[in-house]
Amino acid sequence: MKRMVVFGILMALFAFTGCKKGPIADLVLLNGKVVTLDAHNTMAQALAVKGDRILAVGDNDQIKKMVGEQTRVLDVTGALVIPGLIEGHAHFLGLGEALSRLDLTHTQSWQDIVDSVAARALQAEPGEWIIGRGWHQEKWKIRPAKLVEGYPLHTALSKVSPRNPVILTHASGHAVFVNQKAMELAGISRQTPNPMGGKIIRDRQGNPTGVLLENAMDLVWKVYHKQQSTNPEKEKMRYAEKAMQHLLKNGITSFHDAGASFAEIELFKRLAEQEKLKVRLYVMIHEPNVRLRKYLDHYRLIGYANHFLTVRAIKRYMDGALGSRGAWLFKPYNDQPNSVGFNVISPDSLKATAEIAIEHGFQLCTHAIGDRANHVVLDVYEQVFKAHPEKKDLRWRIEHAQLIHPADVKRFAKLGVIASMQGIHCTSDGPWVPQRISEERAKNEAYLWQTLWQTGAVVTNGTDAPVEAIDPMANFYALITRRMKNGQYFYPEQCLTPDQALKAYTYNNAYAAFEENLKGSLEPGKLADIAVLDRDILTVPPYKVPQTKVLYTMVGGRIAWSARK
Ligand SMILES: [Zn+2]
Repeated sequence: MKRMVVFGILMALFAFTGCKKGPIADLVLLNGKVVTLDAHNTMAQALAVKGDRILAVGDNDQIKKMVGEQTRVLDVTGALVIPGLIEGHAHFLGLGEALSRLDLTHTQSWQDIVDSVAARALQAEPGEWIIGRGWHQEKWKIRPAKLVEGYPLHTALSKVSPRNPVILTHASGHAVFVNQKAMELAGISRQTPNPMGGKIIRDRQGNPTGVLLENAMDLVWKVYHKQQSTNPEKEKMRYAEKAMQHLLKNGITSFHDAGASFAEIELFKRLAEQEKLKVRLYVMIHEPNVRLRKYLDHYRLIGYANHFLTVRAIKRYMDGALGSRGAWLFKPYNDQPNSVGFNVISPDSLKATAEIAIEHGFQLCTHAIGDRANHVVLDVYEQVFKAHPEKKDLRWRIEHAQLIHPADVKRFAKLGVIASMQGIHCTSDGPWVPQRISEERAKNEAYLWQTLWQTGAVVTNGTDAPVEAIDPMANFYALITRRMKNGQYFYPEQCLTPDQALKAYTYNNAYAAFEENLKGSLEPGKLADIAVLDRDILTVPPYKVPQTKVLYTMVGGRIAWSARK
């Protein structure tokens, strides 16, 4: 009976559309290796998109049937097609700001520096400041002919950047190199006296050469900061733009922003409304409890502007970092026996936040690095969950979860707490971790990805950019090898398999944002957020992973970035 009804509806549909064909796609990808990450881990060959959604996944013949006159057909010639990558924990505007700064640490000559500024000046808007850092004249293999007190003259710099003021901070932080435009804006001329505790380096005629030492640096920074403060939003818009371009280039289609103010959320909201958000944001609010109580409901947004902006999480910090011995430990640091690190907020304060979160239906994401910090956060979460048995499917997170006492490992799965981890932290910090916390703790407690996974916990992944580079392939490589820069492996038994690593970077991050029905796998009806890679990162030898190129990044069915110009 039921079958007859369905058949009848289908017949009616065909009659109504007046054609025997099925739906027509806007875009199809053919000849790919499509990793769907659906429940059966199906591999497919082709995929069709309609509007901002995936229409179908199948073999070439099935998908070709959906090609109409207007359909864009992309032959991806054997490339790997995966769900768009989701950055699970990073800092959106911080990333944009870091990308806006020129990194001069690797420059090996004055000409290198001038060339970097020239390249940036070509892209910059008139008047935009070009800020760089990290140059050091001792690293220069070739020295410019004309030097004053060991530094070149600003002439070349001023020539390549006539309209954009330039400030380049020395690696030591005690000097800056500026161009003519910056000096003009700061009113620095041969008449300007040296400020107290500072020096303007001058040539024989008394003209400033562009190098400002110590307190003389303030002369330009003051102008810079004043200009920024007149329109801080413009600067942030630029950061957002820089961050988005960089993310799309890297195959990242969604981003968990680990801490934004209400003002920043207002900015994201405006960008979303103007369709200027090109990467989907999942935002954790970082504001004090008093302000959360007052404004939280106002800022709750789910799937705003065609699923480009969601705000339903709160960020907290329980402790500091391992590098600075700020991570809060049960037992003292191995290399500083009088210290166990420290908590940056009290457990009571976290509990108050947790109460606010649970009452307002917000997820709580708490930074915890040390084993004691992780323990206390789990305790607070557990208490609050117990006090609210009516609240289900909370998916609260611990950000980083770097050191976990063996007795606490199973609590993640048991409480449904997500371990929001970063592969690259392990391989970056690994070389000094055993010395800092002892071999024994490093082995039993540090970056327990596989152990957590085996206990049934949801393990997600990200980079914490700009702390680390956003590079998903370097991060993926860290996840599957735990190979450190010194060539050694950090307790490789905790590696994820390539399949797990991809799931952590896509589906699990979607789950950690309550979005697994929308994203994280390539299935009909889900958002057409897709990355196309030039090699199969699930099967190539791991050493080939870091060179992987992103060929296309699609967000909501639109090609947002392409390697083929
Ligand atoms: Zn972070």
